[in-house]
Amino acid sequence: MPRPTTLLLIFLGILSSVVSYGAEVDFLVGFGRKKITPSEPLWMSGYSGRHQPATGVIDDLYAQALAIRDKSGNQALLLRLDVGVLRNPTVTQICNLIKQRTGLMRREILVNVSHTHSGPAVDELYHYPMPTEQRIKLAAYMEQLKSDCAAIAEDAFKDLKPAILDFGVGEATFFHNRRGLDENGRYTGMRENPDNHADRDVPVLKISNTDGSVRGVIFGAACHNVTLGPNYEYSGDYAGQTRLQLEKEIPHALFVTGCGGDANPSGGTVQQHGITLSQEVKRVLLQPMKRITGPIKTAFRYVELPLVTYQSRIDVETMRRGPYADYGTVNKLLTILDRGAQLPTTYAAPFAVWQFGNDLTLAGLPEEAVSEYVPLLKKAVGPKRLWTAGYCNDVSAYLPTENIIKQGGYETRGFIAETTAGWFTTEVEKTVVETVTHLVRRATSEVDDAAKPSKIETFSEWQFEESAPYSGLDVHGEIPRAEQGLRFDGKSHLEGPSIDLPAAKTKGLTLSAWVKPDPAGMTGVRMIVCEWANAVNGDRFSLSINNGRPGLAIADGIAGAIGFACDQKLDPTRWTFVAVTWHPRTRRYCIYLDGKLTLTTGTQSGNGINAAGQVSLKIGAQATEQHPRYFIGLIDDVWIGNALNPIAIEQRFKASKAKH
Ligand SMILES: [Zn+2]
Repeated sequence: MPRPTTLLLIFLGILSSVVSYGAEVDFLVGFGRKKITPSEPLWMSGYSGRHQPATGVIDDLYAQALAIRDKSGNQALLLRLDVGVLRNPTVTQICNLIKQRTGLMRREILVNVSHTHSGPAVDELYHYPMPTEQRIKLAAYMEQLKSDCAAIAEDAFKDLKPAILDFGVGEATFFHNRRGLDENGRYTGMRENPDNHADRDVPVLKISNTDGSVRGVIFGAACHNVTLGPNYEYSGDYAGQTRLQLEKEIPHALFVTGCGGDANPSGGTVQQHGITLSQEVKRVLLQPMKRITGPIKTAFRYVELPLVTYQSRIDVETMRRGPYADYGTVNKLLTILDRGAQLPTTYAAPFAVWQFGNDLTLAGLPEEAVSEYVPLLKKAVGPKRLWTAGYCNDVSAYLPTENIIKQGGYETRGFIAETTAGWFTTEVEKTVVETVTHLVRRATSEVDDAAKPSKIETFSEWQFEESAPYSGLDVHGEIPRAEQGLRFDGKSHLEGPSIDLPAAKTKGLTLSAWVKPDPAGMTGVRMIVCEWANAVNGDRFSLSINNGRPGLAIADGIAGAIGFACDQKLDPTRWTFVAVTWHPRTRRYCIYLDGKLTLTTGTQSGNGINAAGQVSLKIGAQATEQHPRYFIGLIDDVWIGNALNPIAIEQRFKASKAKH
């Protein structure tokens, strides 16, 4: 069944913009933000003793987004929120909404919550003793919050501008480890314990304009946002107060929570802590900082964290007397058994790593990770600059180390709020450290690979040499040889059998050609090379120009495909080397002009290359007679091969440049 409108629809690029990288910058960065202070009194998160909803506002709560795109088109989005907890299912919904609006994949998105105990009780509708009408209001707030997150993610990508990134680390002094221990190292209660480890790093990532002015800062601290204690006014707590201080001078200040699962603020007011931390961030900004270069590579993985298992109901009951005693968890486990269900033995937690060139590693740990994970990871990951965040992508449990599980106490209580039930085993530490190490290794090797040209593998090529002017293809109409390449008149095309592309399933595709369209060929969709039939099982790939803009489509013919047209038009007065790539793993499209990546990159939603399609290959026209989409102008050196990286694309451009 022909789908005559498909090709027009698929050329609506969704991430196109008209800015360009300056010669000297590795990144484009954009910001998005929205005030998320509830407009009405809602039940608040963090303390079970509250008996009424919020009554006022100390400082506003925000959702903030930072979008990054490097020169190779790699993208990443940081989304940080002033809320107490967000659980994985909600984060997944947010990421799906973001994907719909920006094409970003899950692994490109890092969500961090500030864990403020003075925000609305999102994702905890049944944890606190609130009346039904409060639950309804909170549920509505959560839906709005999800769509706000997607909106600011899109805003951040619309705001992309050339940016210079620098990193430094300060020292936080306003908090302490909160795990009281006796002389035998047993947990005795929540109290200030200067002998126990607290992560005092204050990571600071500066985002500057090319003129040196500071546009934004990401900063962190590994401490609970609980300076205010139980109260009834909305606030971002010390993180919100620090943002207020910093944003007197810097347009965007984004707090990212560290591994402070077992750290609490020391005495002092929330304003004082805001001033202290903002002064430290500003001090770091004034010191020499480490310039951060690209590319940026992101890795993401769910990992099954081990839970204590039980042989019998009696085993579970005895936990009431055990070192991890938590009546709520015991009761939850018994309820699961009462339903006749199996007790969970693992919990799938999301882990994320961002690798910035060889300069900086951001490890995003899930849950309320405790401070000891920071030295453990620094030791395991090695000498590279490591920034460890906690409270990323899921906050459903405390994440203790082996040491802390053996000591017992509050941070060994396992899951919080409305989650599954159980306690982590001491093996959890090993799993966490190995997971992060593995993800860092993977992201680092992707960075290393990006610096080398990818191996070039030719699937098919047509060079239109004098000795074989049509490269073995059938000529339909009149296609004379020009001084260079072939001249297409808008009525003629070349045709050959469908090319065999099993390798494209794993190695992706690059479609490239030298083209010089006539001015008359700068309107409408004009095919350079394609196997495209406008038929469900026939569509495979196309490289075209769409109103003068190079475009590509990789089809699966069933789920449909989102193709892209370049943000730039071709110049009809000269030859241009056009190359487009599609990668099966990342699903990313890239469009290159004269060997340089344009800003037109995006992600395909469908199933990718349809290797089974057997439509004939055409150069200078589309497959179907109803929509011939003839090329007008010159075409030369058409090449189809594996997905190449920017370095290999540039090599191919340079190798054939002299001819054109
Ligand atoms: Zn907490």
